[in-house]
Amino acid sequence: MIPYGRQSVGQAEIDAVVEVLRGEKWTQGPKIGEFELALSAKTSAPFVAAVCNGTAALHLACLALDLGPGDRLWATPISFVASANCARYCGAEVDFIDIDPQTRNLSVGKLAQKLQRAKAENRLPKILVAVHFAGLPCDMAAIWELSQEYGFSVIEDAAHALGSFYRDTAIGSCRYSHITTFSFHPVKTIATGEGGAVCCRSEELGQRIKMLASHGIERNAQNFTHHQQQPWYYEQQLLGFNYRLTDIQAALGVVQLQRLGEFVAKRRELVTRYNQLLTTLPLTLPVEPPQHLAAWHIYVVEMAPQIRDAVIARLHERKIASNVHYHPIHLQPHYRKLGFTEGDFPEAEAYARRALTLPLYPELSFAEQDQVVSALESVL
Ligand SMILES: *Cc1c(COP(=O)(O)O)cnc(C)c1O
Repeated sequence: MIPYGRQSVGQAEIDAVVEVLRGEKWTQGPKIGEFELALSAKTSAPFVAAVCNGTAALHLACLALDLGPGDRLWATPISFVASANCARYCGAEVDFIDIDPQTRNLSVGKLAQKLQRAKAENRLPKILVAVHFAGLPCDMAAIWELSQEYGFSVIEDAAHALGSFYRDTAIGSCRYSHITTFSFHPVKTIATGEGGAVCCRSEELGQRIKMLASHGIERNAQNFTHHQQQPWYYEQQLLGFNYRLTDIQAALGVVQLQRLGEFVAKRRELVTRYNQLLTTLPLTLPVEPPQHLAAWHIYVVEMAPQIRDAVIARLHERKIASNVHYHPIHLQPHYRKLGFTEGDFPEAEAYARRALTLPLYPELSFAEQDQVVSALESVL
């Protein structure tokens, strides 16, 4: 079976993991800081906290920005459910902005209209989660400008976009946001098994995120609120979680990050090749605007909705796994129970009926890619 995505692992990763396994520190050791520094170098993020997965990264981002009951978080319906669930963990309300069918990212025009209405009704969001869908950056300058005008915080959910650039700015730098989160799940651009990171510009916010990722515990005596001299003393100052990454995973991450350029180049080469090979088929292909660079986490084509599910079944018969990214979040049973329904976000719903994700990962060979293309040719 050709999967739709998978990790790429070499001897260097295996050696790095074994070295940690033979060592003393499996967690809370030096590999964490090494990985955070390397990620900061790749993304230009001033502050990085490595955490146990991308969902925890989003939860921490919301907690650090003080999201709570009575607050609102806005997200896009075309994302993984974690992009909205992070608000629910904090007891906040979720609402969505429909997508721009060209980029499949949240529509900045619709965002501006919705903000205007929300201001009149005194229902402005506290946080906007902008997802760089498939690795194609959202229009961050425009989003940042709106955040300044209406006073909300911006989280970039960059689970798809490690290695992407918005204009000349690396995703993760937080130049146009308060916080950026990453995931290192095996289908993402780099993999640590489970894993994630939170990036931000402010040291103060960064320290708070690190504390929240480790039970809300402070170990630096200079920051204690109750003065204690004993070396065993630590203080729990906030209600945090155990969202730490292990050193075993961080060692894997350090080597994977060294290969980021290789991974992105390979993904981009395969996308260019798909675009050339599929051009005559009745499909809508992804487009990269000239001013941005997409790391292409997934390759999504669109087709007539009547045939989409049959195409998935035919590809499966030919041992090709395709996928749908995503069934709109607001139509998941959990969100329907909160009052969302069909027709709420028509562009997202129309896209979701047409979308098909084809296999894309660095080790997909040209021969396997040709197999996918000829399967599509005969099926369509
Ligand atoms: C993968 C993903 C997440 C969650 O990451 P995990 O590491 O699996 O928890 C969040 N948002 C998006 C858009 C994702 O693709």
